[in-house]
Amino acid sequence: MKKICFYDTKPYDKVFFDFYKEKFGFEIDYFESKLNFNTAVMAKGYEAVVAFVNDTIDEKTIDILYDNGVRIIGMRCAGYNNIDFKAAFNKIHVVRVPAYSPYAVAEHAMALLLTLNRKIHRAYNRTKEHNFSLNGLIGFDLHGKTIGVVGTGKIGSIFVDICKGFGLNVIAYDPYPLQGSDIKYVSFDRLCEESDIISLHCPLTKETRHLIDKDEFGLMKKGVVIINTSRGALINSEDLLIAIKEEKVGGAGLDVYEEETEFFYEDKSYSIIQDDILSGLISMPNVIVTSHQAFLTKEALNNIAEITLMNIKDFFDDKPLENEICYQCIKYNHCQKDKTSRCF
Ligand code: NAD
Repeated sequence: MKKICFYDTKPYDKVFFDFYKEKFGFEIDYFESKLNFNTAVMAKGYEAVVAFVNDTIDEKTIDILYDNGVRIIGMRCAGYNNIDFKAAFNKIHVVRVPAYSPYAVAEHAMALLLTLNRKIHRAYNRTKEHNFSLNGLIGFDLHGKTIGVVGTGKIGSIFVDICKGFGLNVIAYDPYPLQGSDIKYVSFDRLCEESDIISLHCPLTKETRHLIDKDEFGLMKKGVVIINTSRGALINSEDLLIAIKEEKVGGAGLDVYEEETEFFYEDKSYSIIQDDILSGLISMPNVIVTSHQAFLTKEALNNIAEITLMNIKDFFDDKPLENEICYQCIKYNHCQKDKTSRCF
């Protein structure tokens, strides 16, 4: 049996991966530590590594994994901004789960918007204390408002459909618009200017880092609601906090935060949080932070486990790696390999 080790494991990962490991013929050891250059050596003796969104897969980490015999990393997620693909190229194959449930993420984005707008988080706390006052709980009708969707790929396009169901007027920005769709595409600046709500569904790349900072907040309507279920660093968080204090931004629903690695997925309830921006955001009554949980549905976890192990089995069976992502994909912005071969 091939041996795989897991980094950054949580109890819910084990449930779903244990279910599939025999089907694919793997023995799995689960580590709680995140993968980085300090912990990479723990992979000695394993033939494959499974990692997640907040692992740090930089050049040093890749070299240690490679020196210890690892030839494949299975990302149990879709995003891959935490990997140095240039360093991995020709050494370690990287596979991922490109789509496990775009519905899970799109639905969570809408859940954040509805909760924020109708102040469900505040109402829940009040009625628990038998406080039945409605003061301060006024929301607005979504119907007829304009929502700007940034990125209309798998998740963004499902989110667009959900928004249409609410009678929202949808506009979108994507440098690669969906062919044949009836989505109304506008420039990014126009989206910022015209939207009552903005929801981010594009990947984090060098170009999209701090896509929204003080300049974009300057273009936006007063009271705009920002939803981010994509990656934290799409927004300059310090500028967001200022925009909220200045009441330029009327609400923010954040499932991701640019410095989340140290905090998200961990119980920090007994710790003093040293990140003043995160603390500041959480303290705002019109901000909801969830801990990168938009993917967390039974259906998504099931698909993640099955596809991750299938990706790794394909590698050991010498098959082409359908879900491989490499330096060439990043360099040319799309995969160049033919479907019957591997990147190297
Ligand atoms: P996708 O590749 O199907 O779609 C991304 C879209 O963004 C594409 O249409 C692309 O053309 C577009 N895009 C690229 N650059 C852009 C730019 N500068 N401005 C606007 N659009 C741009 O990806 P997806 O499956 O829809 O996932 C989107 C993102 O959601 C992922 O990159 C990931 O960061 C995030 N995600 C978050 C969670 C979570 O649990 N919070 C889970 C899965 C994915």
